[in-house]
Amino acid sequence: MIRLYDTKQHKKVDFVPLREGEVRMYVCGPTVYNRIHIGNARTFISFDMIRRYLEWRGFAVTFVQNVTDVDDKIINRAAEEGRTAAEVAREYTEVFIADMHAAGVADPTIRPKATEEIPAMIELVQSLVDKGHAYVVDGDVYFSVRSDPHYGALSGRNVDEMESGHRELRAEGQGLEERKRDPLDFALWKAAKPGEPAWDSPWGQGRPGWHIECSAMSHKYLGLPFDIHGGGQDLVFPHHENERAQSECGCGTTFANYWMHSGMLQVNSEKMSKSLGNFLLLHEILEDARPQALRMLMLQTHYRSPLDFSLARMDEADAALTRVENALSAADWACQNATDGAPDALDGAELRTNAQACRDAFAQAMDDDFNAPAALGSIFTLVGEMNAAVADKMLSLADAEAVVCATDAIRELMSVLGIVLEEDTGETDYPVEVIALAADLAGYGGADAMEAVEALIEARARARSEKDWARADAVRDGLIGLGFVIEDTPQGAKVSYEG
Ligand code: AMP
Ligand code: ZN
Repeated sequence: MIRLYDTKQHKKVDFVPLREGEVRMYVCGPTVYNRIHIGNARTFISFDMIRRYLEWRGFAVTFVQNVTDVDDKIINRAAEEGRTAAEVAREYTEVFIADMHAAGVADPTIRPKATEEIPAMIELVQSLVDKGHAYVVDGDVYFSVRSDPHYGALSGRNVDEMESGHRELRAEGQGLEERKRDPLDFALWKAAKPGEPAWDSPWGQGRPGWHIECSAMSHKYLGLPFDIHGGGQDLVFPHHENERAQSECGCGTTFANYWMHSGMLQVNSEKMSKSLGNFLLLHEILEDARPQALRMLMLQTHYRSPLDFSLARMDEADAALTRVENALSAADWACQNATDGAPDALDGAELRTNAQACRDAFAQAMDDDFNAPAALGSIFTLVGEMNAAVADKMLSLADAEAVVCATDAIRELMSVLGIVLEEDTGETDYPVEVIALAADLAGYGGADAMEAVEALIEARARARSEKDWARADAVRDGLIGLGFVIEDTPQGAKVSYEG
């Protein structure tokens, strides 16, 4: 049974999907006026990890994430740059998708754009007006907060004590305060201002408020109620409180069954902000760092805890990842060189038990509110056990089978977390010159760099066994000259490429 922390209930609860074997989830997407920062990336990576785990546990997941492509920030940027809001939104939507791909975040099942869903929003606003939860003032439509007896249920606020929220809502009202019947009310629909994007509606030309977008799109693509609504913790109030209020008042049913929120990312223990100069964009980080190392860093902190980002932690995460990759390469290599008939060199039963224990601990950690740091810990434990078992040994075929149980577990569980191990890609960055070297010294006639290296290693071993030292040295020197490192071990020569 998976347990998750539900923001609304303020505690961990059993996760019971509304339809057996299915999970329908909605995670608020970006406002596309700029490239996303690593704080946004933290939230998107957290929910990507949650989705991948749910899929691995056998659920058919429908994952909807919107793109907010009409908003004041987009309109302001367009005005500054002398472009249309649609041009700005189109550019940053494309860049957002590219950034997500670069970070290894899987595409949502459906990625609706606000500007393409206006009819669904108008329909929901109209039903709120019809039911007396919203009112029209000169082309604007406002939600009447006090008409919802449950307002505050998600964020744990009391309408009469909403001083701080009050200020946030007022800021959002943008000078239209005097039009509202109550300062707590918020805009569902905004009357058009000259030069701004606008759509026809029963209240005249205008555009949707931010909160109504997510209500309309989740309703349209998932149906109500759906299972999980997610986003960063900063969205609990007012955004999610407002989404919940509108949807439940407009549709007369529960909106989302569970609410999940990821913690905020800070940089060097400070809030990320332009004025502090510590505003880090995802694509800038990925210019120097491997995406899977960034994910490793992110997942080493529980998704609900605050995450402290630093370049030093980035290096540590990369080193941790490299240790796993090296352990797998060493184990693979030992298995490839296992000899038929050799005596068993390690305790295969124990290693198999360790691999199963790792799988069990991983699932137990992830079932407990997606505890990825503990899940990673169980993988690291198996990596250590496997390393110790394999080190400096000549394996039998039975040993190799036990080692494969461990390497399979490590690879599979890392991929559930979305961490792609580099040695998994099957690609090498061997220089093409090695093919000519192999043609020259090993009679190799193919065009594959990996095969060429294997042919050279074989040719060197043959030359040594025939005591043709000149030829053996020529192969070795040729490989070293191209940037390879050769290590002679009891099981034969081990070649790696350092570049
Ligand atoms: P926005 O485009 O600002 O609506 O943000 C998109 C997503 O990123 C939302 O789910 C936010 O909650 C999340 N987010 C924004 N800033 C941070 C941060 N510093 N740490 C974690 N998540 C964030
Ligand atoms: Zn939303």
